Amino acid sequence: MKELLCIVCPNGCRLQVENRMGTIVVTGNQCKRGIGFAQAELTNPTRTVTTTVRTSFPGIPALPVRTSREIPKGKIRELVDFLKTVTVTRPLNCGDVVVEKALGLDCNIIATDHILEGG
Ligand code: SF4
Repeated sequence: MKELLCIVCPNGCRLQVENRMGTIVVTGNQCKRGIGFAQAELTNPTRTVTTTVRTSFPGIPALPVRTSREIPKGKIRELVDFLKTVTVTRPLNCGDVVVEKALGLDCNIIATDHILEGG
């Protein structure tokens, strides 16, 4: 038996997950999305990553960004380390792509704030 905290919605259900002869049995969930979450956690856990990247604009040292989709948990450290090497040098709008296909993943890095012309 494994216990997981479902993070799909703010209810934060405490899930009990058991593998009964190849069948994953989930209890403690208030809705069926918790079952999908538990199954994904046991097979291929993924997360959306939010962080910041540097900019070359004097008044804006960091720009908040996020991944355009969830990535495998095992890739998060590598992605965050890579993003420490990125510097934004052009004005961007919220939602613009900062890095395309980061680390060869099927995922872009998206600005979650803007940088106006002139900083
Ligand atoms: S099981 Fe359903 S209700 Fe409970 S936290 Fe997950 S998504 Fe929310």
